[in-house]
Amino acid sequence: AERLKLETEKLHLAGEIAAGVAHEIRNPMTIISGFIQMMNEHKDSPSYRYTSLIESEIKRIEYIISEFLLLSKPTPSPEDKFLLRDILNDVLTLFEHQIKANDIKLHHEWNAHNSWLQGDAAHIKQVVINLVKNAIESMSSQRELHLYSYSKNHVDYIVVIRDTGTGMTEEVIENLFKPFYTTKAEGFGLGMMICQKIMADVGGRIEVQSQPGKGTTVYLHFKKAKESSGELNQKS
Ligand code: ADP
Ligand code: MG
Repeated sequence: AERLKLETEKLHLAGEIAAGVAHEIRNPMTIISGFIQMMNEHKDSPSYRYTSLIESEIKRIEYIISEFLLLSKPTPSPEDKFLLRDILNDVLTLFEHQIKANDIKLHHEWNAHNSWLQGDAAHIKQVVINLVKNAIESMSSQRELHLYSYSKNHVDYIVVIRDTGTGMTEEVIENLFKPFYTTKAEGFGLGMMICQKIMADVGGRIEVQSQPGKGTTVYLHFKKAKESSGELNQKS
């Protein structure tokens, strides 16, 4: 248990340092990005081939930076709360096009979506986005995406994300939450680590079940928000 604690602290520190560096890199990146965009306005310029490439590479860097900055946010307040239905609706809207374009069958059933849960909405949305993204990326032929929400006794609130994708081997499951672990050519290996960090921050947890060749199911366990302002606190 001591070793695990040390590992967690090391990881935390590494995250802090990376986030600090990411923050410093962000300003010059914004300036470079602005100039490149200006240069790209002249599509017939002989250098367009290169500048458009630079622009897309800058987008990649900016993506990594924004992932790291998520980690650097101060410890969330236990007062933070979000409405589950807002998160689920937003994420579906975000992926609507991709789901259609990839011919993915979507099944969703939301039974606890009116509940106020504990956590920062932007962070939780990032968690669900990362998981849906992984689910979509894992599916090649038979494509089914399942999204559920339900609650156990109005205490434990659960969001389920299930895909019929490649699934994971034991080795992948073991390394899944490690920073920079990826099996994808274009992957960063930060998504799952960020999900785990955010879930731990809100006193929740993430659970993964996977079978190679069959698919993967991810469970997010949330807690109900503290009863302070109960305007929207209806039964779900
Ligand atoms: P990335 O998506 O950039 O590779 P992640 O941290 O999101 O990084 O995921 C790490 C690895 O975990 C992936 O490269 C993949 O091997 C595996 N993985 C995550 N989600 C799934 C999934 N739904 N199905 C199959 N493999 C997955
Ligand atoms: Mg990912």
